[in-house]
This record gives sequence, C-alpha cells and structure tokens, in this order.
Amino acid sequence: MPSYTIAVLPGDGIGPEVIRAGLDVVNEAATRAPGLRLDFAEYEAGAELYRRTGVALPPEVYRACEAADAIYFGAVGHPDIRLPDGTEVHGEVMFKLRFGLDLYAGLRPIRLYAGVESALRSARAIDYVIVRESVEGLYAARGGGNLLYDEVATDTMIITRKGTERVTEYAFRLAERRRGRPSDGRRMVTCCDKSNVLRSYAFFRRVYDEVAVRHPGIGRDYAYVDAMTLWQVLAPEAYDVIVAENMFGDIISDLGAGTIGGMGMAPSGDIGDRHAVFQPSHGTAPTIAGKGIANPLATILSGALMLDWLGERQGDAAAVEAGRRIDRAVEVVLAEGRAKPRDLGGRDSTGAVAEAVCRALGEV
Ligand code: NAD
Repeated sequence: MPSYTIAVLPGDGIGPEVIRAGLDVVNEAATRAPGLRLDFAEYEAGAELYRRTGVALPPEVYRACEAADAIYFGAVGHPDIRLPDGTEVHGEVMFKLRFGLDLYAGLRPIRLYAGVESALRSARAIDYVIVRESVEGLYAARGGGNLLYDEVATDTMIITRKGTERVTEYAFRLAERRRGRPSDGRRMVTCCDKSNVLRSYAFFRRVYDEVAVRHPGIGRDYAYVDAMTLWQVLAPEAYDVIVAENMFGDIISDLGAGTIGGMGMAPSGDIGDRHAVFQPSHGTAPTIAGKGIANPLATILSGALMLDWLGERQGDAAAVEAGRRIDRAVEVVLAEGRAKPRDLGGRDSTGAVAEAVCRALGEV
C-alpha cells in the first residue's frame, strides 16, 4: 500500500488558514482513493518563529523536510519582521529549501476556471504552465552582489548548461503530458528569454534548442520577455508550457496570475529530482490574516499538484487520480458558483470554500 510522509509548514499570516483548508481537501481526496495513505507532520517555521527565537527554519525542521516525501507549505513572512541586513525572513526559509533541496523547476500553472472573471476584457481560454528555473539566473546572485564606493552596484546572472538543460527537459516532458495550447491543441514549449540583448540568454536559448531536438512531437516557440508579457495579455490561449530564467519566470508568473483571478488562484510546485515543495504563489497577506476570508483555492490546487507529483514519481495511479479529482471538484464548485471566495467577488469564508470542494469530491 503506498504511503507518503508529508511535512507541513503552515507559516505566517494566512498561511495556517489556507493550509488547514488544503489539508481538509487533500485528506478527503485521500480517503476516497483506495489504498492511498498520507501521513502529515506539521512544523513551525517563518517570521513569527524568527521573532521569538531568532531562527526562521530550525535545522531539525529542515531535516524533516529533507526526509519527507513532499512538503506542503503555506506562506511565510511579515513586512515588519526583518533580518539584521534589512531583508525579509521569507528568503531564509524558501531559499534554504529551494537551494538546499535543489528544487530547480518552479511549476506555475496559469489556468482560468469557468466561473472566474478574468482581468482581461474578453473571455479567454487560459491554460498554460510556466516552468521557472529556480536555482540559477539573476537571483543566484542573492547576497553576493557588489556595491563599489556607493556608486556602482552589480549582480551577476548565472546560466549553466546543466541547469538550463534539466529545466528545459522538465518543461518538454510536462508538455508531453498535457493537452496542448487552448487555441488549437498543439503541444508546445515556449522559450522566454532576452537573447536579443544578453549572451547569457542566447546561451539559454541554444541549450533549449538542443533539448527540443530530443522531443520532435512538441512544437518549438520563442518569445522575448517583453513581448511575452504582451502576449500573456493579448493572446494567452496561444501558450501551453513556457520555460524561463529565474527572474523572468518570477515576473511573468504574477502577470499570469493577474489574468486568472489573482494570487488566490495561482498554485505552485518547486520541484527537484528528489524533493518538492507545494505552496500557493501568494504570500502571507497580513492585512486579511485571522479573518477567515482568504481564498484557499491556490493552496488546494497546490495539494492536487502534490498528489500528481507523488503519484507520477512512484507510479501510483491512485495518487494521480486523487489529484485530478481535486482539480475536477474545484472546477465544479467554481463553474456552478457553489462557493466563491471574497477575492473573486463572492462572500464565502476560507472554510466554506474548502467544505464545498470536499462535498464536490463525492461527485467527481
Ligand atoms: P501577498 O501575496 O501576501 O498579498 C498581495 C495581495 O494579495 C494582498 O492584497 C493580499 O491581501 C492578497 N492576497 C494574497 N493571497 C490571498 C488569498 N489567498 N486570498 C485573498 N487575497 C489574497 O504579497 P505581499 O503583500 O507582497 O507580501 C506579504 C508578506 O508575504 C510579506 O512578508 C512577503 O515577504 C511574504 N511573501 C511570502 C511568500 C511565500 O511564502 N511564498 C510569497 C510572497 C510574499
């Protein structure tokens, strides 16, 4: 019988509220999947812990994450709780996990569900996935930049063959599992870069081309990042999978989220060869924390991604199916307006939305 250990890090602000909702749904889906067993172990990490103890991610919590089959994560950080260098605590936790566990592929599904209003003027079929390279690129310079005589500042971008190859390979394999872009069902991977200006991005594109040759069934496509943002607004239906350098992936992910109802609808996975973290793309939303009004759907859909990843990795059809059922249950709830969180213009609480998804799991 497959059994998985999940390390749960609820974090700060709305993190614990959306994680509670996510756990209710994931547990309900697991109960309905014959033979699937999930063991959750909850740990404290984040800004509040840092304020009390001076440590944001204790070594024993990191080790528990390392030993777990997957990590289910809420959100961490508070704008008023900062490290001595003035930066926020968020990086202390997320960068340690990302770099320590080598979570190189940032999976950001951008999908507009029926029943959710897009910020785009006309109704669109939006269903693409951004794969953000997460351990190299410009952000690899974090903490290592230079400031010369208070006059010149530099940060160095790192693009390696190995790093680009593995994230691009991940993107092509993902495209093979998908149904293609909404406009015509064509499977494709778009390389998002700025290779018209920087040598590093030209190298990123060259390695992308080399990987693409190994996947002749998947279409090749290219977009400079500035044009990418334009097409995400004007023709999002033309995209299936987009692979991008770290900072570009970060930026286009939030733009994508803006077209599908906002951060409350944007799930994510930070994926490596052996470990993975699943979390909503949003932060701790301190101004609405404790009110029970946060949208839990990004966290619930991240739970679905987690089950899919566990199942694919272990060849466990029950886990893959449980993830798909969560997705279908969310579809039903939104399409039929059974529950609508506040950020989507509804009136339902975090708990009521989770409850509606749990009920729908019995029908899908
Ligand atoms: P945020 O995502 O927390 O909030 C941005 C806006 O979206 C706010 O108006 C917020 O109320 C709203 N929002 C976010 N999630 C929502 C949800 N589920 N339902 C309804 N509304 C939601 O970003 P921010 O304000 O820039 O950051 C707040 C804190 O979160 C900071 O301390 C930051 O460092 C941290 N942060 C953490 C993560 C993470 O843990 N992965 C990511 C981003 C920011």
